[in-house]
Amino acid sequence: MKRINLEQLLENNSEWIRDKLEKNPDYFTELSKGQSPGFLMIGCSDSRVPLTSLIKAEAGDIFIHRNIANQVNLNDMNMMSVLEYSVEYLHIKHIIVVGHYGCGGVAAAVDGVNQGLIESWVSPVFELYHQNIEELSAIQDKDKMCDRLSEINAIAQAHNIIKSPVMQRAYKSGKYPKVYAWVFDIYTGKLIPQNLNEKELIKKGLLPEDYEI
Ligand SMILES: [Zn+2]
Repeated sequence: MKRINLEQLLENNSEWIRDKLEKNPDYFTELSKGQSPGFLMIGCSDSRVPLTSLIKAEAGDIFIHRNIANQVNLNDMNMMSVLEYSVEYLHIKHIIVVGHYGCGGVAAAVDGVNQGLIESWVSPVFELYHQNIEELSAIQDKDKMCDRLSEINAIAQAHNIIKSPVMQRAYKSGKYPKVYAWVFDIYTGKLIPQNLNEKELIKKGLLPEDYEI
């Protein structure tokens, strides 16, 4: 695969500006007025998962948070402030956790790596691996097993968003964004929606009774 070099970054930027202005001379005047994105996406930092380009989104469409293995940790001030800002100030309509197949963070959680920080960061995935060991150990192919764990991880992180104080406050107020988990299939480019089992979450009182599934 051909890689972009440093000089090209700035050249591409000039080209992008030209393209935008050709189509709309007021593009940047409009862009600078403020944002009202409809979506918050939480994705992995992996360079092969370009959240905006893979859905052909434009500047202003998506509020984004990324970290290794798309983690949603209720003690993570960074993630929680992104969530609070999107829900309470931007009033976004949809929150999507985007996991992906071939995730190095997920593989690191299974294999263990000699990097203390990463191991701590992905320890919730390690926990998910053990919680689901029966299903996962039945998958012979190691990559396929990790890909299934990526799905389980995306679903678990979407559940963490639902459990967050910000979202629980929003559910009580009756005005809230919907939460989804998707997985980016790196082998085909497809985004695959996952089942969050909302009925179960409604039963547990984590989602409002009239939540539309
Ligand atoms: Zn990843």
